[in-house]
Amino acid sequence: MSGPANFADAPLDDSLAHRLIEKAGLADVHDKVERGERLGFDDGLRLFETPQLAAVGWLAHRVRTRRHGKKAYFNNNLHINYTNICQYSCKFCAFAAKEGEARGYLMRGPDIEKKLREYDDLAPTEVHMVAGIHPSMPYDYYLEVVRAAKRARPDIHVKAFTMVEIDHMLKVSKKSEDEVFADLREAGLGSCPGGGAEVLVDRVHKAVFREKIGPQEWLDTARKVQKHGFKMNATMLYGHIERADERVTHLVKLRELQDECGGFMAYIPLAFWPYHTDLEHHGHVTTGWMDLRNIAVGRLMLDNFANVKAYWIMLTPESAQTALSFGANDIDGTVTEEKITHDAGTTAPERLNRNDLMRLIREAGYVPVQRTTTYEEIELAEGSPVA
Ligand code: SF4
Repeated sequence: MSGPANFADAPLDDSLAHRLIEKAGLADVHDKVERGERLGFDDGLRLFETPQLAAVGWLAHRVRTRRHGKKAYFNNNLHINYTNICQYSCKFCAFAAKEGEARGYLMRGPDIEKKLREYDDLAPTEVHMVAGIHPSMPYDYYLEVVRAAKRARPDIHVKAFTMVEIDHMLKVSKKSEDEVFADLREAGLGSCPGGGAEVLVDRVHKAVFREKIGPQEWLDTARKVQKHGFKMNATMLYGHIERADERVTHLVKLRELQDECGGFMAYIPLAFWPYHTDLEHHGHVTTGWMDLRNIAVGRLMLDNFANVKAYWIMLTPESAQTALSFGANDIDGTVTEEKITHDAGTTAPERLNRNDLMRLIREAGYVPVQRTTTYEEIELAEGSPVA
C-alpha cells in the first residue's frame, strides 16, 4: 500500500482538519486565514488556549505553504558569543558571569579573527555575534568586534548585537544616533539578530529582567535600527513566567512595528531552558506541544513577517523538523559553538553540518534551500563544502 511519504505531502486530511477547527471553535479564525485577513488579539489568545493543537498547526501550515510552498531555508553560519561578562543579572540567564569570576571570558579582536579562521573550511556566509553587556569595555570595542570578523572573512555577513547591546552602545558612545549607525555600517555590520526583547510586557520585564531595557526601549531601539537601514529579526523567549495573553501582546507589538518600519526578516520564538538559571526551581523544559504552538501562533499572527524560524538549538533538531509543518519555513543554520543556550542545559548538539540540516528538511517532506542572512537563495554548487 502506498501513501503519503510525510506530513508535508498530506499534513492533515482537510475534512478532519475542518472537524477539528469546528471543535476548537475556530471556524471564524479559519475564515479569516482563508481570506488573508489579519487576526485580532482575541484570535491569538484562542489559538494559544485551544486544546486542538492540530487545528492551529493546520491553519499555520496553510499560511506557510501559501508563502513558501515546500521550501525550507537554512544557512551556513557560526556563532561567536564574544564575552559572557555582563553587568546585568537576568533571572532566565545561565550564560552571564560577573567581572572577575573565573568562568568569565572576553574575546578581543584577534581572538575573534582566530575563531573565524578556524572555520575556513566550512565556508560560513554569516557570523552571528551576541554577548553580555560588559561593564567597562568602551564603545570602540564593539566596532572592533565587527571589524575583526570582517578582517578574517571580508565576504562574511556580520549579524550582530541584540537591541540591549545596541542601546548600550548608543549610551556609552557619546555620539549621535546617526554617527553610531554610520560607524557600525563602516565597520561592516550587516544586520541585527534582534534578541533581548524576551517578552514585550512590563510585568515580565519587572519580574525577570528588570535591569536591562524594557519593552518600550526595545521597540524604540529596533525602530532606530530599522530606520537606519539595517534589517533585523525578532525573537520571543517563552516558557518561563509569561502568560498566553502576554505572548499575544508581544506578537501584536512586533506586528505594529513591522507595519511601521518593515525591517524584520524573521520571527524566532525561543524556548526557555531553565537549568543553572534563577528560574530553575520553578522552571521546566518546554514541551513539544508548547514549542509547536508558539511557532504556529507566531505564523498566524505575524501576517507581515515573511519568515518564521524554528531555531533548532533551543527547540532541538527533532522539534525544529516537526515545526516545519506547523508554520516554520526556516530551520536556522549550522551554528557551531553556541554557548548561551548550552549553558542553560539544552540537549541539542553544538552544531549540525549542512548535510544534517538538509536531511532533517528532506525527511519532513520539504525542499532544502540554502539562504543568505537576508534570505537570498544560494545555488549549491556540486561538491560545495559540508559545513
Ligand atoms: S540575558 Fe543578556 S543582558 Fe541578561 S544577564 Fe544574560 S547576558 Fe546579560
